[in-house]
Amino acid sequence: MPGSKHRLIVQDPPHGEPPPRGEESDRFHDACGVFGILGHPEAANMTYLGLHALQHRGQESAGIVTSDGEHLYAHRAMGLVHDAFTQAQLAKLPGGLAIGHVRYSTAGGSHIKNAQPLAVDYVHGSLAVCHNGNLTNAEDVRDELEARGSIFTSDVDTEVLVHLVATSREAALEDRVADALSHVRGAYSLLFLSEDTMIAVRDPMGIRPLCLGLLATATKDASVVASEPCAFDLIGATFVRDIDPGEMVIFDRSGMRSIRPMPKADEHACIFEYVYFARPDSKIGGRSVYEVRKAFGRRLAIEHPSDADVVIPVPDSGVPAAIGYAGEMKVPFENALIRSHYVGRTFIEPQESIRHFGVRLKLNPVESVLRGKRVIVIDDSIVRGTTSRKIVKMVRNAGAKEVHMRIASPPTQWPCYYGIDTPTRRELIASSHSVDEIARYVTADSLGYLSLEGMLTAIGGKNTFCHACFSGQYAIAFTPTHRRQMRLVGV
Ligand code: SF4
Repeated sequence: MPGSKHRLIVQDPPHGEPPPRGEESDRFHDACGVFGILGHPEAANMTYLGLHALQHRGQESAGIVTSDGEHLYAHRAMGLVHDAFTQAQLAKLPGGLAIGHVRYSTAGGSHIKNAQPLAVDYVHGSLAVCHNGNLTNAEDVRDELEARGSIFTSDVDTEVLVHLVATSREAALEDRVADALSHVRGAYSLLFLSEDTMIAVRDPMGIRPLCLGLLATATKDASVVASEPCAFDLIGATFVRDIDPGEMVIFDRSGMRSIRPMPKADEHACIFEYVYFARPDSKIGGRSVYEVRKAFGRRLAIEHPSDADVVIPVPDSGVPAAIGYAGEMKVPFENALIRSHYVGRTFIEPQESIRHFGVRLKLNPVESVLRGKRVIVIDDSIVRGTTSRKIVKMVRNAGAKEVHMRIASPPTQWPCYYGIDTPTRRELIASSHSVDEIARYVTADSLGYLSLEGMLTAIGGKNTFCHACFSGQYAIAFTPTHRRQMRLVGV
């Protein structure tokens, strides 16, 4: 309560249940989205809306921490943003500063104790932090901290930062954060919140995105930060710029300032953001995600043309690439797989007689478009291959004469260690099967992937991207602990 010696007021429910992953597990999943605002009288409400726009980046839990200048107020819950917050709960999050987070678990399991923002009271006041990415040496840092007496309350890598900030000998918050970051490696777009300060920081390689905006209020502009600019559009904020790799932006009563406390590194922005994770209406690294996906489709048509009557996308992420492919091939584009936007949890078990039940929950074919046609199906990627197989069968069962699959990215052969939920290497079909073998498995008449060179050409040529899940070229050296874990899971 305000007035008590504890400055942090937490209203998390004691437990929560994660939503099921089902068909979605045959995808790479972005782990998190972050949103922050400073200088707005309705900071909690704006953060709630910002998280709504970032919901595609994480659906397992959501959380907001606000500050009224004296106390931090926290609420986290499992589930989607609209399930995690009621109006009454938002009303208990006062103040003009807020940070928020949506999560799809990578480091740490799916449990309310791992929901973010993490928030603590410590000797210098209260502190909250939320993170998109993955700290690759977190296990080693955690072992050291535990050996020195630190007690952890979650399984998430982000918690090591809380301890490192708390134990730093620096005086100012920004210096303590910089000191903490000097001990960790990996991918991070982070937001920190104290009673009167918000700090946004992006790792030196800029692996995960983070951008800066302004939102007009009756008195002055509020500063906003988000994983993607689509969060700004919903609240009427203006996109200002991407936060640079290695940049730390500090927002407090004296305004906004930017420092670069970390050693410079070569940029390695995640190219999979353009393939699948980011919303197509977002602009990342100065590029429209929608236009990049179309360019991938055009390039795919040049590399893997096919005689066909119709090009259809696997919705939603395959749509721009299919438009690009169809335009380049001069073949009609049709929306022949209709996606249900209202798929929630299903409590019934499918009967065996219901073919392709899981995928049919989400997609249903338009027979009139497909019957008797040579069909090209465009998807953004193939992970395990199970969903592609069901889609090819569904299209064929709807009457297609031939089904050709084209994938608007190279074969995904390697797991991601930078904040994306991926299966182990042996579960990735392309790590152990040739393109012809995958085509046979998914029962397609032919299969073609965009090449890595073609992808880099389509996005603009410069190789400033992480593409480790396609190439196995990891930009961050693995720690001995990491290598041990990789051996255990067969990587
Ligand atoms: Fe993105 Fe793949 Fe690199 Fe992970 S490994 S950061 S998903 S490009």
